[in-house]
Amino acid sequence: MLEKQFSKLSEKVRGSVITPTNGEYEIARKVYNGMIDRHPTAIVRCVDVADVTAAVNFARQVSLTVAIRGGGHNGAGLAVCDEGLVIDLSPMKGVRVDPANRTVRVGPGCAQGDVDHASNAFGLAVPAGIVSTTGIAGLTLGGGTGYLTRKHGLTIDNLIEGDVVLADGSFTTVNGSHCEDLFWALRGGGGNFGVVTSFVFQAHPVSMVYAGPIFWDVKDARQVMQWYREFLPQAPLELCPFLGLKTVPSTNPFPNELWGRKICAFISCYSGPQAQAEEAVRPIRKELPPPILDWMGPMPFPALQSLFDPLLPAGFQWYWKGDFVKELSDKAIDVHLEYAANAPSELSLMHLYPIDGAVHRVGRSETAWGFRDATWSMVIAGIDPDPAKATALTTWAKAYWEAVHPHTLGGAYVNFMMDEGLDRIKATYRNNYNRLTEIKRKYDPDNFFHVNQNIRPD
Ligand SMILES: Cc1cc2nc3c(=O)[nH]c(=O)nc-3n(C[C@H](O)[C@H](O)[C@H](O)COP(=O)(O)OP(=O)(O)OC[C@H]3O[C@@H](n4cnc5c(N)ncnc54)[C@H](O)[C@@H]3O)c2cc1C
Repeated sequence: MLEKQFSKLSEKVRGSVITPTNGEYEIARKVYNGMIDRHPTAIVRCVDVADVTAAVNFARQVSLTVAIRGGGHNGAGLAVCDEGLVIDLSPMKGVRVDPANRTVRVGPGCAQGDVDHASNAFGLAVPAGIVSTTGIAGLTLGGGTGYLTRKHGLTIDNLIEGDVVLADGSFTTVNGSHCEDLFWALRGGGGNFGVVTSFVFQAHPVSMVYAGPIFWDVKDARQVMQWYREFLPQAPLELCPFLGLKTVPSTNPFPNELWGRKICAFISCYSGPQAQAEEAVRPIRKELPPPILDWMGPMPFPALQSLFDPLLPAGFQWYWKGDFVKELSDKAIDVHLEYAANAPSELSLMHLYPIDGAVHRVGRSETAWGFRDATWSMVIAGIDPDPAKATALTTWAKAYWEAVHPHTLGGAYVNFMMDEGLDRIKATYRNNYNRLTEIKRKYDPDNFFHVNQNIRPD
């Protein structure tokens, strides 16, 4: 019966409708996180807004659950559902740069690298994430942090406009003067309010950067972390060093003698005038113990953005949890060092991403994003290619998070959350949660879009 109806949907769309009998189904249902194994009833690959509208109307009429897929990178696997329709936007990849106004229009199927590639040709960059394969749509709707955040704000702070297909199948363009409530909610509220079919961003002149990793042996980690918490508030906003507790991967291009060494790392980007880059980085090199590896140097921005790609291909096991952090106390550092020492795999990590500077210039209730006062967005991630390690990765990340959680602000970046329940979602949006609920009630009263970090209309 449903097969017959899907053939009707096929007639209405220019893209393809993939059901379990289709040879592409097994690939099409997979997402980035190899821990996620869901079987949707069908996947509709949309090529344009008309396809999205047809898919939304179809799913509503036959009462199918809908999942929206941008880049498929969500850790909790929110781009795919069991027994529902996946609205897969991956074919909608257009990027149009307007160099005169320094704006970039981005299709919802674009990955970070698509946007970096197109913008860099004009000497521009959109402030977003740090890994080229991440979907720009899901990243943006959750907030978006990266190397340009301290200087230019979150990705949502650079969002000028969005096109949205709503739950009733209607279409609207939202910006600072039209559908302001929905525009407010989209800036941090995730995929709760509709399918965003186009984004317009403010871009900034960023082309060559001075960037890369510096590693210290873990024996120096306490000193590096204590120094970092004092250094960051005084560092120029063009310099964004994020801190990691990690292990040197046993692979090229890392020097053989460092393979498997536990480390404390800065992975930094200086995006200001290149003549001033070495001076900006000088305190890191002068005031800390000698590092075991220093690969900071000049590179094009897209090269920095794809630095991690070979280490993190799709299909690995991922379990992560996050929290926002204001201060890095000595007690918190104790917990970090204890748990990082027992990481269950070489790729497992703890990162602290700076979200100070320009992020703090926007008021707490100006967008749906609730943690404008945090200094860092923390993520603890258990990662490994081997499915047999899934339990160990999950157990470690949960235990680490439990131990460090009392030293944090208590809510997490929605894009670093697994399926953690309503209380965690409320903790993330703080006082903005009630307004989000009202807007959800207005635009999606039946909670049609619920495969997400769900804001319930009731
Ligand atoms: C390797 C890696 C690196 C990362 N680096 C960063 C980083 O540097 N900065 C950062 O901020 N985050 C980062 N993230 C987290 C990232 O923001 C989330 O994983 C995000 O969900 C990715 O977006 P996506 O489009 O790939 O999501 P998908 O998995 O495709 O979708 C996730 C959810 O987003 C919503 N959604 C997606 N597209 C749309 C749309 N067009 N309209 C409405 N709703 C939509 C839906 O609710 C969907 O369920 C990283 C993740 C990974 C795995």
